Amino acid sequence: MSIKIALDAGHGLNTAGKQTPDGIKEWSLNDKVCDKIQELLCGYDLEIIRLDNDEGRVDESLQNRFAKYIKSGVKLIVSIHHNALKSDWSSATGVEVYTDKNPTAEDAKLAEIIYNKMVAYTGLRGRGIKQSDFYIINQDRIPAVLCEGGFMDGENDYKIITSEAGQKAYAKSVSEGIAEFLGLNKVADKQKNEIDVIYQVWDSVQKRWLPNVKNDEDYAGVFGHSVCGAFANLTSGNIIYAVHYKGGKWLPEVRNRSDYAGIYGKSIDGLMMKTDTEKTLKYRIHLKKAKKWLPWVTGYNKKDSENGYAGILGQEIDAIQIKVV
Ligand SMILES: [Zn+2]
Repeated sequence: MSIKIALDAGHGLNTAGKQTPDGIKEWSLNDKVCDKIQELLCGYDLEIIRLDNDEGRVDESLQNRFAKYIKSGVKLIVSIHHNALKSDWSSATGVEVYTDKNPTAEDAKLAEIIYNKMVAYTGLRGRGIKQSDFYIINQDRIPAVLCEGGFMDGENDYKIITSEAGQKAYAKSVSEGIAEFLGLNKVADKQKNEIDVIYQVWDSVQKRWLPNVKNDEDYAGVFGHSVCGAFANLTSGNIIYAVHYKGGKWLPEVRNRSDYAGIYGKSIDGLMMKTDTEKTLKYRIHLKKAKKWLPWVTGYNKKDSENGYAGILGQEIDAIQIKVV
């Protein structure tokens, strides 16, 4: 289930005073960073709400913003700002992250993670983690920080905060900080951790190995052609398997593709497989004569004809299917 978080671009497009000396509004800089944070977080299972009016039309009141995130059940809030010393160019420079004046341990942790990344990624001077009872972060129910990503009237900072690269650096600090704080894994990484099984069978009619099949996207075998051998591996971890041949016995178990299981010319009527990974193998076989799939099995025990192996001894197999769950 998604985790819900809140981002807040400070002020509104028409908020007086909050701007660079040449008239770029603070909200529009905050908004660009928030948009980039959202983009960078899109690989995670997160639901992100914006507390400001995300077209900037109105400067949403602090009370409304506060009420919105308290009501919405978000797990944290990060408010994005840019600093100003006065209304004219100055040498002011650097980034800051604020908690309220009574920070919880979580506030302090979130602030520290984001602050360190901001200093590293933006290359701007670190002015420190500070405390102030800004309305938007002044509660102790959920972790809340307010970031100041550089000075709008600072001659040095201006170049960075108005550049694509500078905005991205600010956004990267916050997005990575949030992911690290919440201990999130990318959805894509989770998929990468999935294990595939790749397998093929030896066809007694064509007298050759049929092409490899992945998971249950297809099955290995040609209906009507007895299977004499199986070859299998996993994309991670080991698969151990053995086959029984018709009128014979269980052959020695095989590990991955160190060998194949079977004897060319001998039809198999039983198959059992297992893995040493945390996953479970589900496998089933198709009966050549009965022309049907038997139920999926998960066990590995030649004495258990219910769930210990796939097949009915005495009945030839013409196809197999395997999946990792
Ligand atoms: Zn501001």
